[in-house]
Amino acid sequence: MTIDNIIVKCKVCSDIFTPTRPMQKVCSPACAMQHARAQSEKKQAKAQAAERKAVRLKLQALQTKPWLVKKAQAAFNAFIRARDVGKPCISCGRPLGAEPNTYDCGHYRSVGSAPHMRFVEENAHGQCKRCNNHLGGNHVEYRKWLIQRVGLQEVERIERDQVPRRYTKEGLIELARHYRQAARKLRSEHEA
Ligand SMILES: [Zn+2]
Ligand SMILES: [Zn+2]
Repeated sequence: MTIDNIIVKCKVCSDIFTPTRPMQKVCSPACAMQHARAQSEKKQAKAQAAERKAVRLKLQALQTKPWLVKKAQAAFNAFIRARDVGKPCISCGRPLGAEPNTYDCGHYRSVGSAPHMRFVEENAHGQCKRCNNHLGGNHVEYRKWLIQRVGLQEVERIERDQVPRRYTKEGLIELARHYRQAARKLRSEHEA
């Protein structure tokens, strides 16, 4: 069988042609050029996709659990501050004011000694910076005011709470998203 008996469909224009050399995939120089261009575009797209994937993996590697915990904590704390706008400081009773970034989110059971309580809303309240930073959380007074706000039963429930809470990376990302959204909603409600 000679090559003349073979007919091939051009890869580019789909015309039927008889190849003049083996492995010929296109019918003409014009189609050959277009074929080459398409191949190189394909190669480029593949390289770009690989690069994007590498960037994504690098980002994921940077998102360590401690980093995600920090992010989620910041979102949670901002939510607590937005929730408690206009309320008195949880441990000295002084008005917190209308600007949530001028006071802190103070944990009753501290994040340091009770990390499982770090995202428990009942355990966190708007607290003036003086009480939070300078008076070490002002714990005794915190308890008195907390009882007034949520009742003794609830305070004792918080004090007893030893439920372990484990967070996956995805869970932490979701938590941060949830509290960012909730804080935004609260702020827009306050402004309305
Ligand atoms: Zn062709
Ligand atoms: Zn205070």
